[in-house]
Amino acid sequence: MLTILRQIIQEVSGAQDFSEALDIMVQRIANALATQACSIFLLDRHHGEYVLVATQGLNPDAVGKIRVPINKGLIGLVGEREEPVNIDDARMHPRFLHVAEAGEEAYRAFLGTPVIYHRQVLGVLIVQQEEPRRYDESEEAFLVTLATQLATIIAHAEATGALSDLLESSKEVRHDHVYSGVPGAPGIGIGKGVVVYAPFDLDSIPDRVPENVEAEIELLDAAFAAVREDIKMLSERLYPNLPAEERALFEVYQRILDSADLGKEVADNIRAGNWAPGALRESIQAHVRHLEGLDNEYMRERAVDIKDLGLRVLACLQKNDRTKPQYAEKTILIGETLSPTDLAEVPEGCLAGVISARGSGNSHVAILARAMKVPTVMGVGEAPINELLDKEIIVDGYYGQVHISPSQSLRMEFERLIMEEQKLDAKLDEIRDLPAVTKDGHRIGLMVNTGLGADISISLAAGAEGVGLYRTEIPFLMRDRFPSGEEQRIIYRQLLASFAPRPVIIRTLDVGGDKPLPYFPIKEDNPFLGWRGIRITLDHPEIFLAQLRAMMRASEGLNNLRIMLPMITDVTEVDEALRLIKKAYMEVRDEGFSIEMPQIGVMIEVPSAVYQARALAKRVDFLSVGSNDLTQYLLAVDRNNPRVANLYDALHPAVLRALIQIVESGHQEGRHISICGELAGDPVAVMLLMAMGFDSLSMNASSVGRIRWVIRHVTQKKSAKLLHEVLSMESAVMIRCHMELALERAGLGNLIRAGR
Ligand code: PEP
Ligand code: MG
Repeated sequence: MLTILRQIIQEVSGAQDFSEALDIMVQRIANALATQACSIFLLDRHHGEYVLVATQGLNPDAVGKIRVPINKGLIGLVGEREEPVNIDDARMHPRFLHVAEAGEEAYRAFLGTPVIYHRQVLGVLIVQQEEPRRYDESEEAFLVTLATQLATIIAHAEATGALSDLLESSKEVRHDHVYSGVPGAPGIGIGKGVVVYAPFDLDSIPDRVPENVEAEIELLDAAFAAVREDIKMLSERLYPNLPAEERALFEVYQRILDSADLGKEVADNIRAGNWAPGALRESIQAHVRHLEGLDNEYMRERAVDIKDLGLRVLACLQKNDRTKPQYAEKTILIGETLSPTDLAEVPEGCLAGVISARGSGNSHVAILARAMKVPTVMGVGEAPINELLDKEIIVDGYYGQVHISPSQSLRMEFERLIMEEQKLDAKLDEIRDLPAVTKDGHRIGLMVNTGLGADISISLAAGAEGVGLYRTEIPFLMRDRFPSGEEQRIIYRQLLASFAPRPVIIRTLDVGGDKPLPYFPIKEDNPFLGWRGIRITLDHPEIFLAQLRAMMRASEGLNNLRIMLPMITDVTEVDEALRLIKKAYMEVRDEGFSIEMPQIGVMIEVPSAVYQARALAKRVDFLSVGSNDLTQYLLAVDRNNPRVANLYDALHPAVLRALIQIVESGHQEGRHISICGELAGDPVAVMLLMAMGFDSLSMNASSVGRIRWVIRHVTQKKSAKLLHEVLSMESAVMIRCHMELALERAGLGNLIRAGR
């Protein structure tokens, strides 16, 4: 079964279009199960009906015509139950619905399974047979497995519009193309798609209309010739020492290159309207798909050769600068996995939105986008990234949705939302310089998180009382080597001077996890449980000391520096870090700098630190909760994985209890306790954090205004009551609903959207 499954999946993925994929699927399933009929019904949500879209065994003329109401018949039953329905004689079943045009009179045995994607029923896949019988367990499992594959294909078709086109041919009205991901940074951005991709990654090359077809073909010919020459030289150089098997490899390469076919195919793709790299990708992918689908193992292996060859040709094509992104005035930056550098490279004022196929709202790119106030959607894995270049796109960072080539009316609706948002911002701006104090006089510190030079002005404009978290890894990530001590000193000096006399908490290097330095590669199976944060810097005291000295030198005459240690799991790490900090301090003093010893703090972001918060607090001046990582580690939910993003909620009762414990432990030692994870900027959470007793909240610049607004419109007394109420609740969903309701009742409902 497994082999058949694999074959079907491969054949389906090689289909020309959505309809063909569905046809292949029904035919192959019917054959594999030796059953007479197999059909797919897709849900037309608009009209509340299941539509027959492909069949083997029912009346082929009924495709697109048969529509079963959502609550009727056995199809409706499968959808309602959201699980397989296996009946030996369908005609005896009370839900049997006779549809005249179907031509299913002869069939009795019925097995139907729902096609579900992200908890939504998209359709029903059924098999039928003349003689009454129950399909056995293995047949059922087979169908269920194929339904999961079908779900992905349908979701993709829904996003590209192929689904609505198909349904439209019977009744459906065309919808805007919309893809769902997860919210990354709030706000709405409208602009033109600019796709960035990793160099030498063939699969991520976007389609692009060529300016000059003939010039494009010339480039291609030159690239083929260069690769041919390269391979020839390589093989000649190695020939005398190569065993026959390896020699054969070069021969295969030469044969592929010499056969006019591949070059001609790519040239045809260029003439059909794609530039050379895109045309090459199309051909190589088609060959790879074909080879991988073959039974013959030797031929399957050739897929690797074709890929390798494709990469070599691509490398030649990329020798010129054309592959560099061409930014639009309003750029919607799109990529498989974007890095902070990709964001920073967009010319100032041109970045209107960000779309990342991977990652979630807690990924560092999303955090950075929030700091830069750029609407962002993460984890839009289904979007055909390669096809989005130059398309008009709306990024809805509130709901995590991306609209491609929107209709005029949709665009106008989003433009109206942008105007509303601007009005709210103007209102928030009016109270920018007022303190964050509740109506009954409770005051809490409002700090800002930063990390990019460019966001200092945004952070200053937010009216924060200082920097609660400066992520030093960002300037490290934006270079191709470790920044020198002097380079670091200049960066830190600019930051400290901009905010002085307000305090600035600079965090020591926190790389690893999802922030690998390109020039310091770390290969690990579980990077989030591996060599990360303080673990790296303690193992590399030369890097740590250079950074500490740079911070201290930068603080001369300002004395507003505070140093914070990330990813602490054990007191010995703090003891060792403190020893190195004192050493750096002495050295800098010896150099003649007149500085005070900075205050030192520890981040509480792993469960062990929660339970040791008091012991940690004894050793340092302040604690700051990293709720992003703390939530990830407490709930065992990868903060970057969009598939489990719905499980990631820092309002989970377990996280709330941990936060209370941290505040209590820190206060027992008389320490200042702050929180600098994204939770601090969530309007829904702020009352709870105040009630817990946090002394300050540190958040992205874009959240400061909204959080100040909430604080100034509520009381500490009401917050304490709400905290008491939510502590009796057992799920994050209930807690979030309860708090959203409380905000609505306080007349602050318009802020909820911002905190999503
Ligand atoms: C956190 O983990 O909450 C935090 C503030 O650090 P980062 O997001 O940079 O890991
Ligand atoms: Mg962290």
